[in-house]
Amino acid sequence: MNWLVLDDSVPGAVIGIDGRGIVDRAPDDASDKREEIVSEWQDPGNRGSWAAGDWQPQPEIVAYARLGVWEAALVRVGGHAQLGVRHDAGRPVWHGLSKSPDDMNRGLVGATLLAPGRLAEVTALTRRDDFVGVQVQGAERIQQLVVPRVVEHPPGEEIPPAMIRGSVTTLAAQSPAAPLDLPEELTAELVRRLRRKPADAVRIAVGLRIAETWRLPDGFELPLVYDVAPGKTQGYVTDETTGAPLSALHACRNHHLTGALDWCTHCLNPTCRLCSEAVRPCRLCQGTVCGDCVATPDGRCPACAALTKVGMFQRGRYGVSASGAVWHGAATNVQVTVRQERNYWSLERWDRYDRVTFPLDPHTVQTLRGWLA
Ligand SMILES: [Zn+2]
Ligand SMILES: [Zn+2]
Ligand SMILES: [Zn+2]
Ligand SMILES: [Zn+2]
Repeated sequence: MNWLVLDDSVPGAVIGIDGRGIVDRAPDDASDKREEIVSEWQDPGNRGSWAAGDWQPQPEIVAYARLGVWEAALVRVGGHAQLGVRHDAGRPVWHGLSKSPDDMNRGLVGATLLAPGRLAEVTALTRRDDFVGVQVQGAERIQQLVVPRVVEHPPGEEIPPAMIRGSVTTLAAQSPAAPLDLPEELTAELVRRLRRKPADAVRIAVGLRIAETWRLPDGFELPLVYDVAPGKTQGYVTDETTGAPLSALHACRNHHLTGALDWCTHCLNPTCRLCSEAVRPCRLCQGTVCGDCVATPDGRCPACAALTKVGMFQRGRYGVSASGAVWHGAATNVQVTVRQERNYWSLERWDRYDRVTFPLDPHTVQTLRGWLA
């Protein structure tokens, strides 16, 4: 027996389903054998949409046949396949072909994260409510949007589909109740037909993409987009100049985000490596000075540019002998003192952060003599 009888109530005719489609033929015991009528399985187009009701996720209708008032559809979510039959647009009756709770869950995950009709095999997943975002120091987060970020064809083993489904949606997978009650041969034939068209399954890993707005102390609203890698919880922003992953960020005066700020000792306003006026060491005192504060084309800071010789009677205050010499320069937040005793030159620098004294090398002394002349 390799077919399913739908109707044998009319004398001289039996309607049923076999591997070819819906068939109308004379009964086996009929005396006069007439030609059988076969309405073959076809590409459904937009027919058979009744067969998608009561499924979660929406199934794929792979084949459809109609003969008179009888309709049949081969329906599946991956390896979970059923034959639906209806009479005169009534309620469908279902017969199971193959069961796959895993594919039902893969289909529900795929429909939720990718598109209807796609099965997702997930290797790693970060839940939307299970991550740690980045911090912008001294700023306030005023907006946050979190969406899944799908990476296709990742390496790694698949996580059990039921577990993933529970993390991705509160919906449960379901199909209309369908006993596995068809003759074995017919089931095998219909399953073979279904397998000719491969299911649309894709291996993915799911992380997060986070879009935020931060309000900086000066009122500027800074947009920020970053990712949490699949299966990880900590989000990182990639440093634009070093490529380093950063979870603690600082905003410079130009609202660039960076892992570490460079402070100008003169204006006390930070820059970063992306700033065109980025802080650099002063050519003479090595103190940090930004491009806005630098005083001379050769790269001296305002204090060094203001160095003037200290008169003979003031010299004692700076701790040099009568045979020595002293130059002093002062600017907002920074003071520089250069001392000379015979051939020994030293520089003392004093700013808001630090006070340092160091000897000047002969090359620097030579350049300095030119500046002081
Ligand atoms: Zn049945
Ligand atoms: Zn500055
Ligand atoms: Zn900057
Ligand atoms: Zn300087």
